[in-house]
Amino acid sequence: MVRISSSNSIFKMSPSNNPVANVDTEEIIVFETLDCFSNYIQREEQLFSSVGWDLINPATGPIYINGAEPNDTLKVEILDIKIADQGVICAAPNFGVLGEIITKEVTKVIPVREGKAIFNDKIHLSIKPMIGVIGTSPAREEIPTGTPGNHGSNMDCKRIVKGAVLYLPVNVPGGLLAMGDLHAVMGDGEIVVCGLEISGEVTVRVTVLKELSLPLPMLQEGDSIMTLASSATLDEAAKLATMNMHSFLIKQLNMDFVEAGMLLSLAGDLRICQVVDPLMTARMELPLWILGKYDYRMP
Ligand code: CA
Ligand code: CA
Repeated sequence: MVRISSSNSIFKMSPSNNPVANVDTEEIIVFETLDCFSNYIQREEQLFSSVGWDLINPATGPIYINGAEPNDTLKVEILDIKIADQGVICAAPNFGVLGEIITKEVTKVIPVREGKAIFNDKIHLSIKPMIGVIGTSPAREEIPTGTPGNHGSNMDCKRIVKGAVLYLPVNVPGGLLAMGDLHAVMGDGEIVVCGLEISGEVTVRVTVLKELSLPLPMLQEGDSIMTLASSATLDEAAKLATMNMHSFLIKQLNMDFVEAGMLLSLAGDLRICQVVDPLMTARMELPLWILGKYDYRMP
């Protein structure tokens, strides 16, 4: 098992990042992660605007997976997510969906005790730890870790939890996988621009898959298979996520073109991941059992 310290932080997914470790396919790796403020905010007096942009959205890594070549697929099994006992959420004018009507900055420190996030006296939310940023390097350009895309990264999908399997593209030799930005709990949308931001560690098994043509990124979690897509508008992200699942049904399950669309209309759930990052992210969810009816198993 390889352990990657959170002192190895990157702020861009880039082909020029130097890998901090080389691992073999199917190896188990533990990523220690800082929160999205590089653990800078510890008290409620510390506001969002006091954090330098150079500290926002660190990802731990990247790691080089031996044998991973461009056009391969990286299968990332999320074996465990551990989180700290305190997280933080910030709201600020001009950020998030309510940014136009929020008039002052507020930081809220939220303890996590016995599986609950203590939001206030009345509301104790069950935690559902998830990974906000998880991705590989783009082929040529460098993309800030705050921006999601085909390479994954800041998708802020609340279904990237323990037990999930995420499929990401390999665009450069080694893939250069990195992750961070854990949330103890978050709703679809991430309305005020934060989840319950928290440090922690993620244990994954990474496997290189050859000669697949899945519409990436894809995610299997619980009883669902999902396509994730990010774009400048939510409309466009929703359309891309839908077209990706449609293409998966046609190419992998050999489903009829129109029937695949009809099936998505009846059984697919088009959902919002987040609407607050530089690009918006949507997902199309389909019940996993449908794949079994076509004798298809995710690789
Ligand atoms: Ca995020
Ligand atoms: Ca976050």
